[in-house]
Amino acid sequence: MTQAPVAAAAPGPTKVGTSQILSIAREQVLERGVGLNQEQTLEVLRLGDDRLEELLALAHEVRMKWCGPEVEVEGIISLKTGGCPEDCHFCSQSGLFQSPVRAAWLDIPSLVEAAKQTAKTGATEFCIVAAVRGPDERLMAQVAAGVEAIRNEVDIQVACSLGMLTQEQVDQLAAMGVHRYNHNLETSRSYFPNVVTTHTWEERWDTLRMVREAGMEVCCGGILGMGETLEQRAEFAANLAELEPDEVPLNFLNPRPGTPFGDLEVLPASDALRAVAAFRLALPRTMLRFAGGREITLGDLGAKQGILGGINAVIVGNYLTTLGRPAEQDLDLLGELKMPIKALNETL
Ligand code: SF4
Repeated sequence: MTQAPVAAAAPGPTKVGTSQILSIAREQVLERGVGLNQEQTLEVLRLGDDRLEELLALAHEVRMKWCGPEVEVEGIISLKTGGCPEDCHFCSQSGLFQSPVRAAWLDIPSLVEAAKQTAKTGATEFCIVAAVRGPDERLMAQVAAGVEAIRNEVDIQVACSLGMLTQEQVDQLAAMGVHRYNHNLETSRSYFPNVVTTHTWEERWDTLRMVREAGMEVCCGGILGMGETLEQRAEFAANLAELEPDEVPLNFLNPRPGTPFGDLEVLPASDALRAVAAFRLALPRTMLRFAGGREITLGDLGAKQGILGGINAVIVGNYLTTLGRPAEQDLDLLGELKMPIKALNETL
């Protein structure tokens, strides 16, 4: 449905009222594949619950048109857990808070076994995660050994999430054959100082830029519901659109006891779903992954609504410090919705 007045205004930021935003999004995003800008995304985030169903349906249409029906499945494993020197206020792996996650390392045989179990679920992606500011030599050596062992024994793509990198480390990871690197901006540039004080948003951005330039896929998302305003949520979507990541993992804050955000309220389900759909409309071609926190924010039903509201990638099994849903539940759901799991050869 093309609307002449909208098309005429399309090249620049379109000033819109909440009531028109969905028809504008239909023409601009669904028909032309142009993501919503910050102001438009804010209008979507301001929509009332009475428009939620309509919004989710549009986000689903956008995802089907610009990404297709496939859903990418990923498993994650923690190579080094806890004891991180940084102070990300949501994170129970920081060594600076009184939270119950203690430092621990995983050995290479266990890593390979986890990759095998992940591959059995149909997952094409296996992400090795370490709770660190950035890797030291010991961690880089562990990762090199782990990636090599997995590549020798398991048919799966390896991704890494090891914090901030130097150029040398970026080059080393690319040479190991790591094809995607995760580093989350976590929240909008303006809200970041309220979330982390031990490093800056710009330092994170620099790592992402180097990863992109080295030819690895960029995976970058964040956590919603950390006390940011709707304006800052829209700003975050615009920050991500500027970065143009291959994948955006969306987490919802699961307040962990002992962390500075331990007492925050869980994001209401309707706000979480509205945000998922808004991010899909801002990032029509990007892989949008449901990551941590969705179980407590959305419950079982929310998984279905999210996957029918713009999401096209999931993490199976457990997350790093909290339990997720059993892999079978998610895979059964994809079968029920007739959404194929993305095959490995499509990711090569
Ligand atoms: S989010 Fe990462 S960098 Fe921040 S405290 Fe947790 S493990 Fe450390």
